[in-house]
Amino acid sequence: AELAEGSPTAAAEMARLGLLPSAGRQANASFVVLIRNRELDDFLDTMRQLEDRFNHRFHYPYLFLNDQPFSRSFMQTVAASTTSNVTFALIPRDHWSLPSFIDAEQAQQAREQMARNNVVYGGSLSYRHMCRFNSGFFYKHPLLQNMDWYWRVEPGVDFYCDLDYDPFAFMEQQGKLYSFVITLKEISDTIPTLWDHTLQFMLSHNVTSDWMSYFVSRSGNYNLCHFWSNFEIASLNWLRSPEYNAYFDYLDRAKGFFMERWGDAPVHSLAAGMLLRQDQVHFFDDIGYRHDEFARCPDLADRGMRLRCRCPKNLVNFDVNSGSCLPRWKAFGSAAAWSERDTREA
Ligand code: GDP
Ligand code: MN
Repeated sequence: AELAEGSPTAAAEMARLGLLPSAGRQANASFVVLIRNRELDDFLDTMRQLEDRFNHRFHYPYLFLNDQPFSRSFMQTVAASTTSNVTFALIPRDHWSLPSFIDAEQAQQAREQMARNNVVYGGSLSYRHMCRFNSGFFYKHPLLQNMDWYWRVEPGVDFYCDLDYDPFAFMEQQGKLYSFVITLKEISDTIPTLWDHTLQFMLSHNVTSDWMSYFVSRSGNYNLCHFWSNFEIASLNWLRSPEYNAYFDYLDRAKGFFMERWGDAPVHSLAAGMLLRQDQVHFFDDIGYRHDEFARCPDLADRGMRLRCRCPKNLVNFDVNSGSCLPRWKAFGSAAAWSERDTREA
């Protein structure tokens, strides 16, 4: 249904759709936070905003994951910062280690080479474990097996506005399976062969998609557009599907998580391009958000009151940055419209 945002009937309409928190959490969903002990302060700042802006009304639980044991003070402080359930869990060792088919020495040489080339995180092994974990393992964690939805949160991100409806219930009702707030271009040096392997996967598994061309540049290569995965609200059932896991396993065997530095963001994005319809991917244009130096704020002209945003005065909205893929996302709307435009521009 179309919601006339800011109109007096918007709240009533959302209540009718079951998106308001009349009875606490409505969806089978959880926050998922992969984090290190030393990131506690950054997370407390983020959690304060998340609770105040959203979760004090919905009470969704948090699952904290770590490859190292959480410290007692980390767990106590976090637990004291929300009335929602919090669970702290250790990642199974085999979800965070070199698989048998990776040669440790070769992988180290690849890292050293990337470090010499000044690729961001190019020399880091733990960063690669993190990307591989977020690509193919977090949703396999035993504590998420009875969950349908997750919201990934990172320490240090900001939420600028209220979210006064339930985004999980929204996704469920609108038939969405994946979502984003910021979309940008990947650093090509981190994924030299990811696109080729993805095309090979599509060919060998007879995958067809009517919007994969969204990810293709004029020259026929990957245009590097991806949804930034430090914010994600998405379906765990989709990630647990045989199709998604066939893709992850294929990529894993291609060794690029270790021999290159494939990020989970392009992996999730290309999987969505192959396996979902474009209308199953949702852009949360009413979420104000910052991760590192990239931030966005909703257009407040018609819904400033409802969203109660507090965006920095000097915020440079990434939506209109030349590096943002949002204009392409919006223009692509229907595959037909885009191919018409390609023809015209050609
Ligand atoms: P960036 O966003 O790509 O710059 O990478 P981050 O350093 O923010 O890492 C992404 C997420 O993974 C954050 O939630 C981090 O807290 C988490 N993370 C990264 N490396 C590790 C690690 O070695 N151990 C754990 N437990 N979490 C990690
Ligand atoms: Mn981060």
